Amino acid sequence: MTRKIGLFGGCFDPIHYGHIRPVQEARQLLGLDRVLFLPTAVPPHKPGRLLAPALARYAMVELALLEEEGLFVSTFELTVGRPAFTIDTLEHFRAAEPQASLYLLVGGDSFSDLTTWRRWREIVELARLAVLVRPSWRSEDIHQSLPPELIEVVTSKRVEIVSNQPVGVSSTEVRKLLVAGEAPPGGAIPALVLEYIRKYSLY
Ligand code: ATP
Repeated sequence: MTRKIGLFGGCFDPIHYGHIRPVQEARQLLGLDRVLFLPTAVPPHKPGRLLAPALARYAMVELALLEEEGLFVSTFELTVGRPAFTIDTLEHFRAAEPQASLYLLVGGDSFSDLTTWRRWREIVELARLAVLVRPSWRSEDIHQSLPPELIEVVTSKRVEIVSNQPVGVSSTEVRKLLVAGEAPPGGAIPALVLEYIRKYSLY
């Protein structure tokens, strides 16, 4: 049977349960064999953003996923030494796994911006897209929120809108709380990630 591999890029600054739970649901609904989380050293979509060190963000993803079945970390976007464009990542995994079906997992907010991504039409040819809903982006709003080229892609069957339970957490909110010396609410980030953040005073 064809192996199905999911790829999920992000800053993970820090990783939180809004990254983990919807991806686990997508993995099960789409029958993916594994999902690789790709913390990116230099995100092309957030120029000038001050981030925690890339290796710390990588370590947090590793700690968060240790006991998560089927979820793994890849160092690929950590080591390219320049902004990591999704099309380059997909070409790399297509060459490494020529027989596999590739699925690119993205949150709905990122998906709405897809037409601004480098060679976005080729992205949709190289991988199927699995779009995760979040409270700020629900599938009911698709027709109001997406540019017409993207609505075309959604109807082309290359895109699956995952009916995951929305999780109302973002890294921005978690960082804000930590900077203010407050703890993120229970269930927002894994306990080991919080310990790591505190040990190294990351935020
Ligand atoms: P920030 O608040 O710093 O912008 P973020 O919480 O959106 O960060 P990223 O690391 O930028 O997290 O996101 C990586 C991917 O995860 C993106 O595709 C984003 O849309 C998706 N994502 C982030 N949070 C959620 C969530 N709560 N539910 C579903 N997808 C999410």
